Amino acid sequence: MIITIDGPAGSGKSTAARKLAAHLEIPYLDTGAMYRAIAHLALEKGIAIDDHPGLVRLAKDADLWLDCGPTHTRVKANGHDISEAIRSMAVSQVTSPIARIPDIREILVGKQRAIGRKLGSFVTEGRDQGSVVFKDLADVRFVVDADLEKRAQRRYQELIADGEDVSLEEVRENLSTRDGNDCKQWAPLLEPGQSIKIDTTNMTLAEVVDCLEGHVRESVGA
Ligand code: C5P
Repeated sequence: MIITIDGPAGSGKSTAARKLAAHLEIPYLDTGAMYRAIAHLALEKGIAIDDHPGLVRLAKDADLWLDCGPTHTRVKANGHDISEAIRSMAVSQVTSPIARIPDIREILVGKQRAIGRKLGSFVTEGRDQGSVVFKDLADVRFVVDADLEKRAQRRYQELIADGEDVSLEEVRENLSTRDGNDCKQWAPLLEPGQSIKIDTTNMTLAEVVDCLEGHVRESVGA
């Protein structure tokens, strides 16, 4: 069974996807972590955001490793554990411009499909999972969203809990810029009627997970 959950940052999709995977006892693929890993490596190696050939070479050569356990995602690049480092604001800021480079998307989409083939049954989460990457294979496709203010507050709380020194305004600004970049990548690709849309603005995490699980069980007749 392949379940895709797409949506913008702060929509609540990551935590809900992880919990859904845990309930269903199947792995969880966090594709944002893969784009973040390339962004982290670019910052580490001092490759400029506009050096597209340099970034594409970096993505091609990167030995990315993901542990897709339902309760955690560990990410290693070239043997180093970067699971925490990829969540910083500095990485968030450069990830979406890097993720817009078509050759980088092609490389990471290939890696995602290869991981998917190995996993068999899984919940995957990102921007383009139901519309592109697992378009023909997904059993249930979700699109999860929430209004910008609510998403900014959620992301801000996460960053503060991780010890980051950021303001709510910075987080809101970052999300709004990423929305502009990201929607060019995934929003136009979603076909009406092919996904279940959930607005999480006024929902608790438990309600979102219940809602997702209910739809999945209904779809597979469980
Ligand atoms: O979901 P997360 O916030 O970790 O994703 C970070 C960034 O990676 C997104 O803002 C987006 O630019 C990019 N991304 C993407 N396609 C995906 C997953 C993430 O372009 N499937």
